[in-house]
Amino acid sequence: MAETVVFRNAFLIDGNGGEPSPGATVVVEGEAIKDVLTQGGPPALPGAKVLDLRGKTLLPGLIDAHVHVGNIEAVHDRTAALPPAVYVLRATRNLETDLDLGFTTIRDAGGLDWGFRAAVDQGLIRGPRLFLSVTMLTQTGGHGDKRGIAREANVPRNSIGVFPEICDGPDEVRRSARQVLRRGADQIKIMADGGVASPSDRPGQWQYEVPELRAAVEVAQAAGTYVMAHCYGDRAIRNCLEAGVRSIEHGNLMGRETAELMAARGAFYVPTLTVFEVLAERGRGEGLDAFILEKLATVIEAGQQALEYAYRAGVKIASGTDIIGPFQYLKGRELALKAEVMTPMEAIVSATRTNAELIGWPDRLGTVEPGKLADLIVMDGNPLEDVGLFERGLEKVVLVMKQGRVMKDLLG
Ligand code: ZN
Ligand code: ZN
Repeated sequence: MAETVVFRNAFLIDGNGGEPSPGATVVVEGEAIKDVLTQGGPPALPGAKVLDLRGKTLLPGLIDAHVHVGNIEAVHDRTAALPPAVYVLRATRNLETDLDLGFTTIRDAGGLDWGFRAAVDQGLIRGPRLFLSVTMLTQTGGHGDKRGIAREANVPRNSIGVFPEICDGPDEVRRSARQVLRRGADQIKIMADGGVASPSDRPGQWQYEVPELRAAVEVAQAAGTYVMAHCYGDRAIRNCLEAGVRSIEHGNLMGRETAELMAARGAFYVPTLTVFEVLAERGRGEGLDAFILEKLATVIEAGQQALEYAYRAGVKIASGTDIIGPFQYLKGRELALKAEVMTPMEAIVSATRTNAELIGWPDRLGTVEPGKLADLIVMDGNPLEDVGLFERGLEKVVLVMKQGRVMKDLLG
């Protein structure tokens, strides 16, 4: 018989954005949530394991919709040069860190291959549920093309054989999109704009034409999935919206009218505020060159403005961090940065219910409701009063349950 766990006396934030419920009881049976009782005592369930959460907050497992678990170093070539065993073990460490911070699901925006999901599913790695892009589609000289001026051969993203798909024209884009799906991608990641950490372009230099983007969208739709696109400026975002892209990433240079268009089209916006702040603080020490640091400065402050435009326009705002290099442990900061524009509750919803909708699992993840998978976290304290608790998640997230299994327990 499936094990039953009862959380009682919880300060419950259920992910739907309504008022929290003090003194709630949540019953987990097997891998799913069976009952949520906001008043009255807990039911008598003989044989159940009972956890008293007085003074603590129960939330849905967090979702990070834009990660690069496999970008071990901030500098691309350093990651690619790591010996395979070191690469795999450090990526594994990143996955464990995500889980320990309370992220029970992550969407990788390029780098991790299917083997990591198999290793998590087989219990070889203690990690979150993975939605993979495998690798990204990039035009020649685009954000994913790391050759720069001096090299001709395609440059690997890591030492275990993941290369970016450099493809131009609708036919090549179609083929590359099918390639990543063949290799186990859950969604297709495309580079539709220049970038910060790339050698040959700048944010705001839009990449790909609408027919190329549309080719990727059609391949994705045929397979029952969607496209997520790296974008900064208005033109790139508008191209993507016209082509039917579902998930717009970064968007730092977005204007008000583009935000309104995004809302009208029903696309999701995944601002990634943390990566810019963390790299501005620490990137120099990690070996980022002057060209990259200069580009970083052009997008960092605009990011908050873009979020505000999107928020006022009523865009569906999801949540990602885009953290690269050795800073995965800081990803909880994203909620605090968002809370400078949104309310703390809205920031929490973006990283739970809205992210679950974005990845296509709204009926299984994102909220604490009967019938959903039991992805739950317990925090010491109240994040509505101190949204900075998420950044200190290694210490403040005291219990992590993924699909009914306890993955971290500091309750003692
Ligand atoms: Zn990007
Ligand atoms: Zn990214």
